[in-house]
Amino acid sequence: MYEEIVKLVDDVTPEMIAIRRDFHKHAEVGWTEMRTASLIARKLSDLGYEVLIGKEVCDAESRANLPSEEELEEAYNRAIAQGADPEFVKATKGGFTSVVGILHCGEGPTVAVRFDIDALYITETENENHFPNKEGFASINKGQMHACGHDCHAASGLGLAKVLMQIKDRLKGTVKLVFQPAEEGGQGGKAITESGILDDVNFLFGAHNTDMGGNFEVLPGLLGSMAARKCDAVFKGKSAHAGIAPHLGNNALLAAATAVQSLHAIPRHGRGATRINVGKFVAGTTRNVIADHAYMGLDIRGETSELNEYMNKKVKTVLEASAMMYGCTVEYIQKGYLPSVISDFPFAERLGEICNKYLGYRVHKMVMNSGSEDISYMMDRVKSLGGQTTFMGFHSKFASNNHSPEFDLNEDYLQRSVKAFAVILCELMK
Ligand SMILES: [Zn+2]
Repeated sequence: MYEEIVKLVDDVTPEMIAIRRDFHKHAEVGWTEMRTASLIARKLSDLGYEVLIGKEVCDAESRANLPSEEELEEAYNRAIAQGADPEFVKATKGGFTSVVGILHCGEGPTVAVRFDIDALYITETENENHFPNKEGFASINKGQMHACGHDCHAASGLGLAKVLMQIKDRLKGTVKLVFQPAEEGGQGGKAITESGILDDVNFLFGAHNTDMGGNFEVLPGLLGSMAARKCDAVFKGKSAHAGIAPHLGNNALLAAATAVQSLHAIPRHGRGATRINVGKFVAGTTRNVIADHAYMGLDIRGETSELNEYMNKKVKTVLEASAMMYGCTVEYIQKGYLPSVISDFPFAERLGEICNKYLGYRVHKMVMNSGSEDISYMMDRVKSLGGQTTFMGFHSKFASNNHSPEFDLNEDYLQRSVKAFAVILCELMK
């Protein structure tokens, strides 16, 4: 039965590759995916899907870390100049870049598949051996790059859309293909969830590319991800002449530097993994002045939401105590939060068995992943309403690590993932 699907996916592969390269070339970071979203909507609409785009599937208040109004305006104009769909792009104006394609196939379960579509603030390498440079599809948007393969994820969603349309007579139920903006930094999942589009979903799954090295064909048991909290700390002190009157200043740089050491020294927790990283530190104005301000950007992770809260409390204590030592104040600002997510084990196992039985994929089960994933909001909502969810990884050979300027993944991810998605949907909607 599934030989036909394998063939349909093979047939659509050149088109998926072309779409992937086009999205890669026109990389758009979180909330500015206006060209990308409009073209996805156009394609879904042309295929015959019911299309929801913009505010109808993106709750304005739930969008985290939105770029400034000028940046959004600039992105909108750039999207149009770079060939956005003139009709659909209008709905994305102001940073409403979610798209959902719905396929109605009569009575049966509602199944949602999630694809993230955003790029990162990374400047793509100029190394001539970098595959996108060789093939002429490197990002033309300076400082923005698909360095996590979400270009492939978006293209796989459109490939799947085409295949499903060709086999829709066999499906019973409703398919929702969810194209999510602003996955990086945990900014977009909540906005889609709060729109209510997932409230009738019985099954939800999503996938990420992954290179585990070695033998794994697929990891449909990427069962959990860490709770991640993104925050800023802003120290304020008092400037003074560093030579004549250092005693009159309150040194914000020293307060923050003290905090950095202590933050990295927060005791680990006995009940599970935790992480902390101060990834950005900026302080002071010039050489001979006691610094009156300092800034740091932090990433706090815990295997569970409770462990994340444990770390977060310690962080606040360290920040405040360090500020106090130097007579400074500190403001703690949360910029984004992703709860931890645990897949439904039997559901994850079921999907793994489907991939193994019909496609011969070797399934590796993984209980915890130290990455974090914005799909967690969606999974939480679907689970809380009685649905089943899992998150998967499909193997792809990387040229370099995710989030590096040299990142590239093998395009066979497209076929591998879409074959799995299509067969899984057939089984869930028999
Ligand atoms: Zn990613």
